[in-house]
Amino acid sequence: MRASKNQRHVSGAERILKAKDLPQAMNALTNRALEHGLGRADFINLKIEEVAPEEILHFDALPVTEAFAETVFASYEIMEAKILELGISKAVCEKILLLLASVQPMRGAVLYDIAAEKRIEPDSKRGIRVTYMDAEEQKLFEGKNHFREAIVLATKVVNAPGILAELCISDDPEYVTGYFASKRHGYVRLSPLKEKGSIHGGRIFLFDSRLAQAEDTINFLQQQKVLVANVPSSPNLHSSEEEQEHKNLLQAYEAELQFLREQNLYRSMRTIASQQSRYVEMDGRKILMLASNSYLDLAADPRVKEAAAQAAAVWGAGSGGSRLTTGNTVLNEILEQKLADLKNTEAALLFNTGYMANLGIISALMNKECVIFSDEYNHASIIDGCRLSGAKIIVFKHNDMQDLEEKIRAAQFKRGMIVADAVFSMDGDIADLPNLVALGKKYGLLTMVDEAHATGVIGATGRGIVEHYGDAHVPDIIMGTLSKSLGSEGGFVCASQIIVDYLRNKARSFIFSTSQAPAALAAAIKAIEILEAEPARAARLQKNVECFCSALQKYGVKASSPTAIIPIIIGDESKAMQVSQKLLEQNILVPAIRYPTVAKGEARLRVALMSTHTEAELEWVAGVISSLVK
Ligand code: PMP
Repeated sequence: MRASKNQRHVSGAERILKAKDLPQAMNALTNRALEHGLGRADFINLKIEEVAPEEILHFDALPVTEAFAETVFASYEIMEAKILELGISKAVCEKILLLLASVQPMRGAVLYDIAAEKRIEPDSKRGIRVTYMDAEEQKLFEGKNHFREAIVLATKVVNAPGILAELCISDDPEYVTGYFASKRHGYVRLSPLKEKGSIHGGRIFLFDSRLAQAEDTINFLQQQKVLVANVPSSPNLHSSEEEQEHKNLLQAYEAELQFLREQNLYRSMRTIASQQSRYVEMDGRKILMLASNSYLDLAADPRVKEAAAQAAAVWGAGSGGSRLTTGNTVLNEILEQKLADLKNTEAALLFNTGYMANLGIISALMNKECVIFSDEYNHASIIDGCRLSGAKIIVFKHNDMQDLEEKIRAAQFKRGMIVADAVFSMDGDIADLPNLVALGKKYGLLTMVDEAHATGVIGATGRGIVEHYGDAHVPDIIMGTLSKSLGSEGGFVCASQIIVDYLRNKARSFIFSTSQAPAALAAAIKAIEILEAEPARAARLQKNVECFCSALQKYGVKASSPTAIIPIIIGDESKAMQVSQKLLEQNILVPAIRYPTVAKGEARLRVALMSTHTEAELEWVAGVISSLVK
């Protein structure tokens, strides 16, 4: 239906409905034109057209939140913040808001290309009219419902190719509430967006010509039939302000989740129904595991399990307190001594996880007067530790000692630290420890490495990075985890007595958390004993890496790694996901790693080997991977 008065547009509306409901719908639409805020229409045009069900696309309504402000100006500020959150520059954002404030009522909307920074609707007097849409659950006899109609329209608009957002101010003089809609933010009601009585109003669709052809977008908006499900009929005006705010909060989270789903970034978990070993059970199937951190397969070693069981029987299930209160036992101290011996340092200190170790160590040793030089590929727990410390963080190029030295020279600091993964968790390469330590000594900086993926893996007998490069290159702080090669759970630091004493007094994640369970401690003690007594395990893991990489190379797939982590770069995110899925169909678990864990366009398969994989298994997997990758 389209209606006008004195040849000026007054009202437009449409329905997609079952043929039997036609008479009532026509009645309702006609009444609407006769009772419009802009005056009684003197011309009403009703058009009826048949639509086949398969022509219709279905979407879920955008989640609704409200951001009501004191003034029009404050509403514009809220709008501005949202536009900036879409990655649009401040300069372009200002142009958009100026346009919104000056846009005149017309039949359609402005189509604004943020890349070209101009309006691109073919007819700037008419604008782009969005048609062919309705709510899935229709209320036939309801009069005008701005709210429902706006949600239907906004949902269609933000689902159009290349559209980033819609900004809308109603042209109804009585209605000062407008909205901002995007896939990321959902439908955000904003009020007031104009003064009461003003006939100013209009819509702007923000379009990015780098993402789609304008022609396709306009076609979608004008021609594509769309039904929107779950459209709320009112913004729930009866709840208290607090209730509404609480609801808004949850809906904002839901909108973010929806955004993640649409970006293919939503995370979910797979469920394993067995112990972690070379084979695991998933969905009733036996799957060859090429993704575990239990590199020496010790999480499933009968001796390690027995030690854990014994400890639970003797020492109980939980520790009952933090180390500094009631949770320090003989087991904690034995394990710390073993770790210090393994890493050849004066002392060691346990944390509950590797993550907590990095948080506690870095934030205790560094403060806001310090500078931390951090490798760009460092693990998230290092990054979080750096942030928590408040120190200035200077990121250097991955394993690039020249860049590191240049950045140290350019920086001013009294106290500082260089920190890097010993083995990088996504690329599997080894830090340049000799130069890193040398730079630390040269410039008076502490040096720290994270041996999460190094312990049990590198060095002739699996003792880690110092064994790998030789005793001449020793960092001040070696951090590690019990949760990978050592098959248990917990984190640790090995360092001088002074540093360990300091951390025991200052590291908050150590002080304020309950000590590990006895079973975890005993399992780690036993695992270290096995690592030391059976150096052939680490050697066997290293041999497996060589064997697997050369099998892949034989098939023409690029792969090499000095550690148990072998990245196979695929590039395209969806192809990497597909290959991983196909491998799983053949009972092989190799995850695809993609943005944001690694850079965009560098999606990869990340293989992690165990010492217990057989050559025949590795040869088979290499063959399957090569056939899928090509
Ligand atoms: N550092 C690195 C390099 C890691 O890969 C991990 C675990 N993914 C951690 C620290 C954290 O160790 P944990 O799992 O014991 O918390």
